[in-house]
Amino acid sequence: MKIRFLGTHNSESTSTRLVSFVIDEQLAIDAGSLSSELTFAEQTQIKWIFISHGHYDHITTIPTLAFNNIKQLTKIYSTARTLEFISRLMDGVVYPEFTSDDSYLGKATIQLVPIEPYVTQQIDGYEITAVPVNHPLQAVGFEIISAKDSRLFYSGDTGTGLRNVWEKISPQVLIIDVTFPNRLKNMAEDANHLCPEMLMEELISFNRIKGYLPKVITIHMSPQLEAEITEELSEVSRRLEVPISIAREGQEINL
Ligand SMILES: [Zn+2]
Ligand SMILES: [Zn+2]
Repeated sequence: MKIRFLGTHNSESTSTRLVSFVIDEQLAIDAGSLSSELTFAEQTQIKWIFISHGHYDHITTIPTLAFNNIKQLTKIYSTARTLEFISRLMDGVVYPEFTSDDSYLGKATIQLVPIEPYVTQQIDGYEITAVPVNHPLQAVGFEIISAKDSRLFYSGDTGTGLRNVWEKISPQVLIIDVTFPNRLKNMAEDANHLCPEMLMEELISFNRIKGYLPKVITIHMSPQLEAEITEELSEVSRRLEVPISIAREGQEINL
């Protein structure tokens, strides 16, 4: 499984992109930067997109990718609530109705596929399971298992209290929200995100339940707070003796 990070931040600029990554060139997870970070040729490779929740930073490039891919049908998988938000976005006014055969494009180019939490989807050799996390709009994370049994869990945006999540998954790599530094812990709690200290508590709970710790990659960082977050994450890594890295735009990892 090759993971290519396109966007790894929670706000966009010339040097930062919104959250999105691609697995083996064809399976996209969240859609914050699919059109801004992929060439037209690469965009046509995307067959399936899994969306964690309906906040703008995770769905914003669905219409732009759809517009660039009108010759094919791209399938978007998420819970019914999230698909409702995406559907509202493509309203035939601001954006074309990509899901309809009746738009001026003449045929649907997006198919919305509702999924239920804990029901595994079999997609071209991948097993993908949505697991509810602690974030508004009924957000889910995804466990993704490749045909060769590489196991990844992406939390999407989440706050604390992930005990129920850990019981359901067994990843080798955990891609998880760390948005704020410890000094903004209150803000992280209010907005259902994590800071390094909160991540440490969640990892301790993971270890207690699973008896091991996965390799950790953090994502969704506030760009202006990078230095602080980076220093605090290395402290967590040292204390728990677990590798923790911060996802970077353009970074590729093999799993
Ligand atoms: Zn969110
Ligand atoms: Zn977000």
